[in-house]
Amino acid sequence: VPLVRTETDVVVIGAGQAGLSAAYFLRRSGLEFVVLDRDSSPGGAWQHRWPSLRLDKVHKFHDLPGMAFDEQDEHRKASEVVAEYFARYERAFELPVRRPVEVVAVRDAGERLLVESAGGDSWAARAVINATGTWTRPFWPHYPGQETFTGRQLHTADYRSAEEFRGHHVLVVGGGTSGVQLLIEIAEFASGTTWVTRRPPVFKDVEFSPELGREAVAQVERRVRAGLPPGSVVSVTGLMRTPQVREAEARGILDRKPMFDHLTPTGVVWPDGTEQHVDAILWATGFRAALDHLAPLHLRESGGGIRMEGTRAAAEPRLHLVGYGPSASTIGANRAGRAAVHEIRRLLAAPEVAAA
Ligand code: FAD
Repeated sequence: VPLVRTETDVVVIGAGQAGLSAAYFLRRSGLEFVVLDRDSSPGGAWQHRWPSLRLDKVHKFHDLPGMAFDEQDEHRKASEVVAEYFARYERAFELPVRRPVEVVAVRDAGERLLVESAGGDSWAARAVINATGTWTRPFWPHYPGQETFTGRQLHTADYRSAEEFRGHHVLVVGGGTSGVQLLIEIAEFASGTTWVTRRPPVFKDVEFSPELGREAVAQVERRVRAGLPPGSVVSVTGLMRTPQVREAEARGILDRKPMFDHLTPTGVVWPDGTEQHVDAILWATGFRAALDHLAPLHLRESGGGIRMEGTRAAAEPRLHLVGYGPSASTIGANRAGRAAVHEIRRLLAAPEVAAA
């Protein structure tokens, strides 16, 4: 099969909340575009989330622009209902999503950006909207002795069900929302649990409010503007003390320990020599932005992040990152999609200037 190189105005990479939102505004802009998605079916990262994640356990799932989510049954799996909603959405707005297409590189090809896929096909675009999320880049920290541990190790991204841990002592690493939720679930079946986090967790009694959300977004915005990595959501919002959390606190499940010093074949050891036998370790240690395919553009700053101005990469005006940093939430992703398309329309309407 001959490899195809297609010219188009805009390539969107990723068909999650952020990519679909961008696609919706592109559809209305009259620009020619294509959405490339590495998954084989609709749903973005949501389709991969663990079966026990029901809608009543997610913070707040925001509508995509132009079509209400209106799922009533909060006991259904978030993975299923969100995937169904995204599929409906792609059909309703006739969004040109190609899948599975994994983008492996974006290169500067003079006047155009060249988007290359694992299959060999490529797209020469006047602008690129990157919406690849974080799910494909689970972050595993390294601790001494990790490779000698003979029990099971898994990351949040691999987690399926608490029942798999029946009768086991499980260590959960990480102080984010997922860590807390999974710890509470697993404690129902495990013979025992241990929770370790780097910093003491801070639970807040206040309800998540728009003001809190805005402040969190502003903090992350300041970081990416300075070229720093975005950081985790909980590092800026803190953890919510839900009724479920309160109950777990009362039962002692959330008695957190500081990080251990090293692992042994059968457990972990703290700096003072205390040892805990564990059968399984769940690394609920978060995700990083999936941006490896942008490496040929050399946008990483010494601080480790990509310097941003709104959704635009400061050093590459043809590239927008949506669902990144301050827009890494379902509501932020929507706004970012609109903002990115607005800027790209202006950029592409300007007389085409020869690349320097
Ligand atoms: P994704 O949904 O991850 O979509 C990225 C897409 O890009 C995927 O389809 C993937 O296949 C594709 N892709 C990746 N790499 C490539 C590549 N190289 N080439 C081609 N395609 C690629 N946010 C909220 O606002 N409310 C919540 O309640 C909430 N709950 C959450 C619960 C969990 C467990 C987690 C992990 C996150 C949660 N979030 C929540 C954050 C949430 O992930 C974001 O809000 C949002 O859904 C992310 O959308 P996205 O489009 O940026 O990324």
